[in-house]
Amino acid sequence: MPDLDSLRQATEDSPEDIRLMIHYGHALLDADQADRALVAFTRVLELEPRDREARLGIAQALFQKGEVSEAAVRAEAILAEDSSFAGAHILLSLLHLAEHDQTRAIEEYLCAVSADRSLADRKLESVLGLVGPSSQASKTIAEDSRATQGSDPESNHFSGDSGSDDLPPGMESEEENFANPVNPRFCFEDVGGLQEAKQELRRRWIARLENPGLAKAYKIAPNNCALLYGPPGCGKSMLAEAVAGEAGCRVIHVGIHEILDPYFGSSERNLYHLMEVAREEAPIVVIFDHVDTIAGDRQRLRDNQARNLANQFLHQLHLLSTSTVPVFVIGCTDSPWHVDRSFLRPGRFGQPIFVAPPEYLERLEILEKVASSRPVEDLNIEDLAASTRGFSGADLKAIFELASEKALGTAATENAFHLLGDEALKEAVQGITSSTNAWFKLAQKSMPKVRGDEAFSAIRQAVTDNRKA
Ligand code: ATP
Repeated sequence: MPDLDSLRQATEDSPEDIRLMIHYGHALLDADQADRALVAFTRVLELEPRDREARLGIAQALFQKGEVSEAAVRAEAILAEDSSFAGAHILLSLLHLAEHDQTRAIEEYLCAVSADRSLADRKLESVLGLVGPSSQASKTIAEDSRATQGSDPESNHFSGDSGSDDLPPGMESEEENFANPVNPRFCFEDVGGLQEAKQELRRRWIARLENPGLAKAYKIAPNNCALLYGPPGCGKSMLAEAVAGEAGCRVIHVGIHEILDPYFGSSERNLYHLMEVAREEAPIVVIFDHVDTIAGDRQRLRDNQARNLANQFLHQLHLLSTSTVPVFVIGCTDSPWHVDRSFLRPGRFGQPIFVAPPEYLERLEILEKVASSRPVEDLNIEDLAASTRGFSGADLKAIFELASEKALGTAATENAFHLLGDEALKEAVQGITSSTNAWFKLAQKSMPKVRGDEAFSAIRQAVTDNRKA
């Protein structure tokens, strides 16, 4: 416990010393002397009216006096000027907690720790329900906290005891398989067609990564997210992975099942942990397949946990938009009509990118790519492309797979190897149904939900075109 009398004496001897006065104010807060702390912090503001530590100190003192609303207004005003001020997020977390708003308390806490890991506080995590006996991710937060607090105990005004670190057997290894960065298998050249989508992804992220100086000079805000939507098998995941290939960085494929957890608060924690890993491994591309599962329409989500997870995801996207750490989050979905509109605002996913079924020339390109890695005769690829309208990239690949399986059977029986020819491929086409037609029917039914919504104008156009054809 600091000696308050000697501190007071020191401030009287050096009344212009702002740092000393702030230190004294915190010591008064620690001694539950909110009124005197208010006087100390107010004195600082007389000398330096914008000093954010003193403004935060006043908000903390008000909170200590039970003036919760006034404290919240002041904390929010500080954050409006500097959203990365971790101490103000911690205070807001405590304020929400006092008002029994657990979700917002967690959001603010995670925000604080993302901005300044030294504020991680095991005791607060425990009160927030972020840390439990089975929480490996929270253990990491607490361990980080201990590692970074070390020499400066005053850096964390809310620190408490460390609680139990014991984990049940079997939980320890789970984290290691989670959020695993890998090298991408594709670059843009491997993806047939989709020129507009490639250009847009290059504009949004790759160009900025390649030219950080120019992006800074033009004051271009970070644009760290994209939502790819369209029928299944048309290359959303492949394209997303190719962004990493093109940018020369690694990629994390997020299995939604790895995020979702039936225990209260665990899914949010998993997501938080994933994004922490991403930030540490940056530059990196993080791909969420079936992203509508965690970015669903929040009004439809009756389940509190699902809503909390959606909120946490929104929050993580917001953090990316205010950070210069090169993490690019790409969400992929076949069901864009289920995505909550708040995810489409600028600074979050922004304008979604339609990954349409391949047109004739694109089918030609995909078929040529697929054919180039197989033992084929001189093929009439133009005919094949013309006869496969409505086929997705995956369907086109399946033609060759089906034909190859059949050829293998024949080769084994006849003990003779044959190259794949036009006839074999035409026969295979008969065995495959275009998988995009069903999607367009579904999109048409779901259209009322997206009618009048400019974000999805590309679907409307595509549905109309598909109906005409
Ligand atoms: P889903 O919505 O079902 O996850 P998706 O749109 O993400 O599907 P992908 O998983 O990327 O589609 O594509 C499946 C496979 O189809 C790819 O691995 C690739 O082999 C092939 N494919 C799809 N589109 C293309 C394309 N444009 N160029 C080359 N191959 C493609």
